[in-house]
Amino acid sequence: MSIYYSSTRNANDKVTASQAILKGLADDGGLFVPSEIPTLDVSLKDLADMTYQQTAYEVMKLFLTDFTEEELKNCIDSAYDSKFDTEEIAPLVEAEGAYYLELFHGATIAFKDMALSILPHLLITAARKNHVKNDIVILTATSGDTGKAALAGFADVEGTKIVVFYPKNGVSPIQEKQMVTQKGDNTYVVGIKGNFDQAQTGVKQMFNDAEFAKLMDANGYQFSSANSINIGRLVPQIVYYVYAYAKLLKEGVIADGEKINVVVPTGNFGNILAAFYAKNMGLPIAKLICASNENKVLFDFFTTGTYDKNREFMLTSSPSMDILISSNLERLIYRIAGNDAEKNAELMKALSTTGVYEITPEMKAQLSDFEGGYATEKDTADMIKKLYDQTGYIIDTHTAVAASVYNAYREKSGDETKTVIASTASPFKFTRSVMKAIDERYDEMGDFELVDELSKIGNVAVPQAIEDIRSAAVLHDHICEVEEMPNVVKEFLGIK
Ligand SMILES: *Cc1c(COP(=O)(O)O)cnc(C)c1O
Repeated sequence: MSIYYSSTRNANDKVTASQAILKGLADDGGLFVPSEIPTLDVSLKDLADMTYQQTAYEVMKLFLTDFTEEELKNCIDSAYDSKFDTEEIAPLVEAEGAYYLELFHGATIAFKDMALSILPHLLITAARKNHVKNDIVILTATSGDTGKAALAGFADVEGTKIVVFYPKNGVSPIQEKQMVTQKGDNTYVVGIKGNFDQAQTGVKQMFNDAEFAKLMDANGYQFSSANSINIGRLVPQIVYYVYAYAKLLKEGVIADGEKINVVVPTGNFGNILAAFYAKNMGLPIAKLICASNENKVLFDFFTTGTYDKNREFMLTSSPSMDILISSNLERLIYRIAGNDAEKNAELMKALSTTGVYEITPEMKAQLSDFEGGYATEKDTADMIKKLYDQTGYIIDTHTAVAASVYNAYREKSGDETKTVIASTASPFKFTRSVMKAIDERYDEMGDFELVDELSKIGNVAVPQAIEDIRSAAVLHDHICEVEEMPNVVKEFLGIK
């Protein structure tokens, strides 16, 4: 069965999977959604015996129906290889009765690697299939982790260039160092004097600028996106939920068909949307618990049915979740509106003009599988310390937001369903906040001293990604105003 993709804002704009990956965003500014969510066609029992790569194929073949088996398997094998420091790719670790799905064993030690190690392969394959002649320019806004993962994926990939915009004062020191030391002639990293939402809006505006697209084309370029607005990022993210379920089944933790809960530390709503898609494919998931930090716009949305971005933007110790406009929520809104592009477009228009929209009671009734929660800065730090003190396991700040929200939910609801917590980053990526949470006195140490200390007290080796930047030279130092973003892109591409 073939799956097509259409815009969340216009049902008539239909493209194939490979075209949707190439474009990133629909022409009307909407996001591409599949014509239907396919059902898993292998049994959970069979999945229990599969490797990560085999699971990836079983899931992705159902969504990317215009890729041949050979093309897709090539992409999968090129992505999930020794770039990951464990053969399992995404191991599960049990601590205090929850199962942490460690999604940070890739090249840049955050979960973005799970999708961004395959996206370049999908994109190049899609370009070939569609006889694209232009070079593809990947425009990326990052709250810290997407940037590096996309740079690592696209560096020196022929036929591509990549520009990453990050909030100059809104990422962790390690995140920044990882990005500004990026090698590769086709890479360009720019700090903006603004926050992530401004970076993301700026990027979306460039995508929607028809004049800019013409100018690009005349110079042999076209844009695509490495953000989770690209369906080519979302689909690979579904895989690890299926994989985690199958592993729990294999290990006898759950029975075949037994439902699990999933907790996801959320920013742009990409990761949790992938879990929602997995559930809709037939994976036995009960609750989808959406965990926010102090930027709790999603918690408020799930409790009230009103999305309101008009509030103070908080800089927290979980910067990759410092987001007030969660782009991928649009895909959920579209779905609960009954796949109604017109209704969705209306709400998104309200969001861009007034910053607020309210869903109908009928739409809200369809959100009963979701549970919103949030953790304050103190909750987050307390969680890291408590888990370390009791088990010796050290989690990063984003994962701690999820763990804290989960504990509060479990206590309040008495729900003892087996639960998977998406562990989205290595603690080494947010060393200072993590170590400070364990003991305030660590704050006196330098960044790399802290790395070594974390390795010691956590009894885990320093990841290669951190070793790589210890003494690496800074290769990017460009900073710009938000308004200058289009000019920066033109300058990098040598377009007048
Ligand atoms: C990107 C990111 C998140 C948020 O994921 P979304 O898909 O944007 O909701 C959470 N934690 C970490 C470490 C991240 O890098």
